[in-house]
Amino acid sequence: MLRYTIKPKNLGAHLLSVSIDVDDNADVLTAKIPKWIPGSYKIRDYSRHIQNFHAKRAADGKPLAWRKLDSDTWEIDSDGQAVNLSYDVYAYDLSVRGAYLDDTRMFFNHCCVATDIIALSQCRRRIAIESPQDWRLFTALPRCQGEKNIFEADSYEHQIDCPVESAEHYVHRQFSIADVCHEVVFTGYLSDDDDVDGMTQRIKNICTAEIKLFGGSPLDSYLFMTYLEHKQYGGLEHKNSVAQMASPDMMMKKGVAMTDKMIDFMGLCSHEYFHLWNIKRLQPKDFQPYNLYREQHTEMLWMFEGFTSYYDELFLLRAGVVDANTFLQRQAKNLTRVLNVPGRKLQPLAASSFDAWTKLYQADANSSNNMVSYYTKGAVFALYLDLFIRRHSDNHHSLDDVMRELWQRYGAKGIGIDEDSVFTACAGYIAADKREQLAQRFVEGLHGTNDLDFDKLLTAFGVSVTQTVSQTKGKTHTTDSGLRLNIERGVATIAFLHADSHAAAVGVSVGDRLIAIDRQQMDNIDFQQRLNIGRAGETLMLTLSRRGRVFDKTIRLAPAVANQYHFVLSEQSTALGERWLETWQP
Ligand SMILES: [Zn+2]
Repeated sequence: MLRYTIKPKNLGAHLLSVSIDVDDNADVLTAKIPKWIPGSYKIRDYSRHIQNFHAKRAADGKPLAWRKLDSDTWEIDSDGQAVNLSYDVYAYDLSVRGAYLDDTRMFFNHCCVATDIIALSQCRRRIAIESPQDWRLFTALPRCQGEKNIFEADSYEHQIDCPVESAEHYVHRQFSIADVCHEVVFTGYLSDDDDVDGMTQRIKNICTAEIKLFGGSPLDSYLFMTYLEHKQYGGLEHKNSVAQMASPDMMMKKGVAMTDKMIDFMGLCSHEYFHLWNIKRLQPKDFQPYNLYREQHTEMLWMFEGFTSYYDELFLLRAGVVDANTFLQRQAKNLTRVLNVPGRKLQPLAASSFDAWTKLYQADANSSNNMVSYYTKGAVFALYLDLFIRRHSDNHHSLDDVMRELWQRYGAKGIGIDEDSVFTACAGYIAADKREQLAQRFVEGLHGTNDLDFDKLLTAFGVSVTQTVSQTKGKTHTTDSGLRLNIERGVATIAFLHADSHAAAVGVSVGDRLIAIDRQQMDNIDFQQRLNIGRAGETLMLTLSRRGRVFDKTIRLAPAVANQYHFVLSEQSTALGERWLETWQP
């Protein structure tokens, strides 16, 4: 039996104390802490926050010899007897993949704080979690009967899939869908104006629609945990819960119409809930089992993140959070995002997934030039497949059938999938003479860098595609400088530079501070407007500074291109389009 005790040690110093009791075991005991957390594909080396490690014999407290084998591994001479390990964890990482402790809140993933005891990974364990008096504690870990703060987990994998949130101030709601209890918890920057009930109702509608797609729920319970903090956004999916962060202005407010940000937050809830099937249970073969001690690559994240990103929007529509036109606008916005990334011409979708560890998760100023996101392009591919299947099955089938089949055939049985599993499932729902074409789309869409052609497909559904030129403050751009500025506190810095632009060719660099254009400082002109609204072929002299050195560069403006996409339901609906819309009804 394993017993973990995790509790705050010093709120101001952000220290958690961890104690692990291990009953009789082998002569040598090995404790190990993961390098990364499932769902977030980056080596994080959680061992760096562990300090003050001790090992002692449980019976009499006699210190035991131990040594580090590598950054993540402790080897203890336990001599086959019961052992107690203890250490502290520095917990001051706000992200949903980390651990955090201060005088208002405790949050942690067990990945960051609890070492695995290698020979006992599959053993049941009891986990005592303490937090300051009056703080309420939330986690999807099952409580031991009759205990308030003692939980149990079937295995290490189960333990690390159940993050913990605890705070004094919170709001809590719950609802049931087919006897499955769902809890919705918000902590952090709460306001009396927050329309928590309105949000809970919408979340319930989204969950109901998702359960309907999969033909049932594999859950006993589910917990939405959202910490509200300014300028934060994101989530990390788990089997029976999700840890999310959102900015307070993403909360619906009583008597206030939904803003784009509020819709985005509903989309986040929709996304993370969809993951309880798509990645937490239906998984790539490559992740079975997880190896948390080194990078683990898969080419399949276009399916697990991309399809999830497509469906998170589709369920906003099906749950009545947005209408059909808003759904189409948001799809077009996503396509715009993809088609404005030069890196899509260098990196295929499958490669974007494979290299997530060093590209998407380590994005820098050059990322748009050398990569494409498997979230955005994966969602575009999902939309394409959905339309393709509908078109070539006379709208009798859709990507819904594919997801349901993959779930029933693989996910529900714990069997991993690969690209061929997805292709075969899609091919089963279209006319036989279109399968060759579908195979080509898979090759092009996943392993090629050409853009998928949406125009014809969407037209068949009565949706017209138009392109317009970007605007700033209502003014249409006439020129493209290849530069994007970041303006903060009156200082303009070059945040992005198109690698093929004239500006790059003459030596302008990301990070350069823009001081003047044609000798005029920013106080006198609007830099962004001067770059975007000029004359094609016109030259501008930029005065820049780089590490204290001031210099001039003359750049030539290219003509602006119509790079903003719009999907609009046309007046003349098609039979296919009408049936498509019917399947969207809540
Ligand atoms: Zn996701």
